[in-house]
Amino acid sequence: MMGANNSDFIAAGESLVHVNLYDSINGEKVFEYVCYGEQTLLDLISKFYCLIARLDNKEHAHHFNSYCLIEENFYYNGNAAKKKIEEIISFSNQNMDEEHDLEPLEKNNLIFEMSKTKIKNLRIVFGRPYLFRHLEGCDHIILFKDLRILTENQINDPIKKDKYPLVVFEGRLRKRKCDGCRTKYAELVSLNDSLKGGKHLYLCEQCHSNLHNQE
Ligand SMILES: [Zn+2]
Ligand SMILES: [Zn+2]
Repeated sequence: MMGANNSDFIAAGESLVHVNLYDSINGEKVFEYVCYGEQTLLDLISKFYCLIARLDNKEHAHHFNSYCLIEENFYYNGNAAKKKIEEIISFSNQNMDEEHDLEPLEKNNLIFEMSKTKIKNLRIVFGRPYLFRHLEGCDHIILFKDLRILTENQINDPIKKDKYPLVVFEGRLRKRKCDGCRTKYAELVSLNDSLKGGKHLYLCEQCHSNLHNQE
């Protein structure tokens, strides 16, 4: 492949990583993505989609103030998430101090910014489930499935870099009747909703907007 736009495509030798994302409520696999090594963790997380985050139509809510815990390292996006992580670490360090009297070196949680962390630089164990948390408590399992190195004969049909992370699997979000009208299927979920005594509230688009218009 010759020409000025070579850099728009992934070159042979580049690593492609498959990543699974699981539903926060029923734990089923909902997405599989492929990203390439030079992309950042934020590039990947920005592609995540969760029913719960659709509430309030905050398009950015999926990755806004979120973090991942991968091995002993935290990766955050947003200052509120960073603050939360620091609280968690200081709490667990306190407890470790009391129980084990460890040297400071052994308390080795590190904090990184998602936007500055390339996928290829992540310290991960493939196939091991890790935590992705957003919306202050909507927890997803994220799993790095495998890594492939792109070979010369695999780039006959190149895909532009800006198409990545590619969605290669999209599971069906479980159908559930709306708690409002009980006829349509729910498209939005409100976690721990006060209207439902702290349980999850499932709503269709119509009932959700009616509820909002009353506020
Ligand atoms: Zn979620
Ligand atoms: Zn409804």
